[in-house]
Amino acid sequence: MQGKMMVNRFIEPFHMEYREEPIPKIADNEVLIKVKACGICGSDLVYYNGKSPLDTPDGKGPLIMGHEFSGVVAEVGAMAKKMGLFEEGDRVAVNPVMQCNACAACMRGEFNSCGNVEVVGTMFDGAMAEYVKVKYTHVYKIPDAVSFKDAALAEPLACATHAVERLEVKMGQTVVVYGVGGIGLMMIQLAKAAGAGNVIVVARKDFGLNKALECGATHVINNTDTSSPWYAEDVAAKVCELNNGCLADRAILATGNMSALQDSLKVTGACSTIVFFGQAGPDDMLQVPVLATLKSEKTLRFSWLAPLVWDNVFKLIASGQVNLSPIITNEFSLEDAEKGIKYMLESTDPKVKGVIIVDPE
Ligand SMILES: [Zn+2]
Ligand SMILES: [Zn+2]
Repeated sequence: MQGKMMVNRFIEPFHMEYREEPIPKIADNEVLIKVKACGICGSDLVYYNGKSPLDTPDGKGPLIMGHEFSGVVAEVGAMAKKMGLFEEGDRVAVNPVMQCNACAACMRGEFNSCGNVEVVGTMFDGAMAEYVKVKYTHVYKIPDAVSFKDAALAEPLACATHAVERLEVKMGQTVVVYGVGGIGLMMIQLAKAAGAGNVIVVARKDFGLNKALECGATHVINNTDTSSPWYAEDVAAKVCELNNGCLADRAILATGNMSALQDSLKVTGACSTIVFFGQAGPDDMLQVPVLATLKSEKTLRFSWLAPLVWDNVFKLIASGQVNLSPIITNEFSLEDAEKGIKYMLESTDPKVKGVIIVDPE
C-alpha cells in the first residue's frame, strides 16, 4: 500500500517524535495492519529510559515501539492471501513474540524458550503508528465480541493465562495473588475462572486493592500501608484467619518484589504450588527453606511469556470471564504517545494500564 502515515517514533532515550513517514511495504509473508489500539507496556517505559527490556537491544532508536496491539487488516501479502487466511477489513490482534519455529525448543512447542525470538516493537518497528507490518503467522482474527481496546491487552493477558495455567488451581482452592498491576488484576479473574474459591490479594496500595475487589478478589491485604483498613503486618497469619485457619493452596506472584516472593513461601501450606511471574532484578536471589519446603512437598514454578494460549485468551475476553475495563485506566492519542509514556512512568496518580487509541472506533 502506498502512502503516508503518522508515527510516534522513539529517537533516543527520553525523546520521541510525532511525524509523517511512508506506510511500510510488506513482503510476501507479511500482513499490513491499520492500528486501532496499542497498550503501553512496562517494557516500553524501560526502553524509553534507554535500557533494554527482555534481552532486546539496549534502548536504541530510531524505533517505533508498541507490541501490544490490535487493528484491521489493510493489506495481505501473497503467502497468506494464497491460503485465504485474511481479507482486508479483518479485525485482528498480534502475538508480538515471534518464535523461529526451527530450533529444538520450537520443535517441542516450547516457544517461550526459543532462542531466536523476534519481538515487534522492540527489535523492529511496532504499533505506535497508524500502520504496522507483521508476519502473517502471528496475526490472529478476533471475535466480534472483543473490542479493539481489549484486544490490545491480549498479549499481557496471554502471559497471565499461561502463568495461571501453571498454577493448576483446583476447584474451591484458596489462591493468594501478589501484585495489582494489570497482570495481577487479570490473574485474579483467571484464578476465579479456573475454579478458585477464595482469592486473597496482597499489595502495597489501597487503590490497587480496590481494583482487585472490582476484579473479583474475595479478600484483600495491604502489607505496607499501616493506615489502610486492610493492613496486616503478618500476611500468613491473616491468610489463615481468612481461610478457616489454613494456609493457602496456591500463590502467584505478579510482582518482582523480593519480599513478596519470599513471603509467598510463608503463606502457602502443604502440597501447595507457587508460580513466580513478576520480573525480578538480575541479581535477586530467593531463599528457600529447603527442609520445610521438602517436607511440605511444595511445587515452585516459574512462568515466562505465553506459549499456546492465544485462542483461549480471546475466548476469555469474549465470554466475559475476564473483564479488562477496570484495568485500562488511561487513554492517550497517538500524537500524545510520548506524553502517555512519561505519565505512566512518572505520575504518582493512581493508575494501572495506559492504552494508546491510534484510531478511535
Ligand atoms: Zn508487553
Ligand atoms: Zn525457535
